[in-house]
Amino acid sequence: MKPILVVGELNPDLILSGYRSFPRLGQEVLVDDWTLTLGSASAIAAVGLARLGNPVRFAGQTGCDPWADFCSQALETAGIDVSHLKRDPAVKTGLTVSITSASDRALVTCLGAIASFRAEDVPGAALEGCGHLHISSYFLQTGLRPGCRNLLAQAHARGLTTSLDPGFDPSEQWDDGLRETLREVDVFFPNEVELRGLGGAEDPVECIRRLENGRTLVVAKLGAAGCLALEHGRPLYVPAFPVEPVDTTGAGDSFNAGFLHAWLRAQPLIEALRFAAACGALSTRAMGGAGRQASAAEAEALVCGSGPARRVPQEANAQ
Ligand code: ADP
Repeated sequence: MKPILVVGELNPDLILSGYRSFPRLGQEVLVDDWTLTLGSASAIAAVGLARLGNPVRFAGQTGCDPWADFCSQALETAGIDVSHLKRDPAVKTGLTVSITSASDRALVTCLGAIASFRAEDVPGAALEGCGHLHISSYFLQTGLRPGCRNLLAQAHARGLTTSLDPGFDPSEQWDDGLRETLREVDVFFPNEVELRGLGGAEDPVECIRRLENGRTLVVAKLGAAGCLALEHGRPLYVPAFPVEPVDTTGAGDSFNAGFLHAWLRAQPLIEALRFAAACGALSTRAMGGAGRQASAAEAEALVCGSGPARRVPQEANAQ
């Protein structure tokens, strides 16, 4: 198995949980607990892939501050090669503060190094020997975005396969070169909101059809409702596994990791979707995106119906 290169943003999440009333300007409120975890879609996907047993390399940028140490240590502890992680004393590491209750959350993010990281900062050596390139948070990474298509094309030229997760578009314009970029993407992972924004229709199947370009496999994540892809033009739908989530942060990134793990091993699409859904569901067992992601054995056990949920999802595929 060749290493998977994950390129992208890196920041810790400081989760403040259990508020009774949400803070208003000029007020102080108390929360029950705090958790400091590895945040950012790219890092959560990278750790998810490593936890499943894949060799993973990470290329990204931090400042030279305690948050940077926290992030690189978390990646290293997961067994990820961080030799292409750039530290720039001129910028601060990104940080997200998440104020959560059992039913909702508000996120406050300082992008810091995330905004200044460019595709040109990824050395060619980072791609060397890799089998796959994964990029997350296309819209959030304003520095990376302009060179993203070129980086993906370079990867293809070197024989790598590629995948992209758009993440939410804060401007809600839902384009900025994405359709062009998709021409260099083998697997595309929008969630429901992103799919609707990009496809411009209510029906997810119609949105996927509108995004098709002859190359890209679109895998749509529909939260607790499951996931969807088209196989030979026909919808293939896999429901979510029933779990009682502690925190759904990063479920989509763990899903991506699971899908890539199976897809890179040439599993049939339906099997890859099931395995991904298991990884997404199991990642919700702990606070934070990378708190308790699935091992391959745990995901397989859930798929086979002998895991914690002890149920195999019913297929409801359109004919
Ligand atoms: P994102 O985090 O990108 O918004 P989703 O919320 O759609 O992505 O989650 C990705 C996948 O994780 C879903 O397709 C589903 O398989 C799984 N998942 C997410 N939330 C739950 C949940 N509450 N229960 C079970 N599985 C879930």
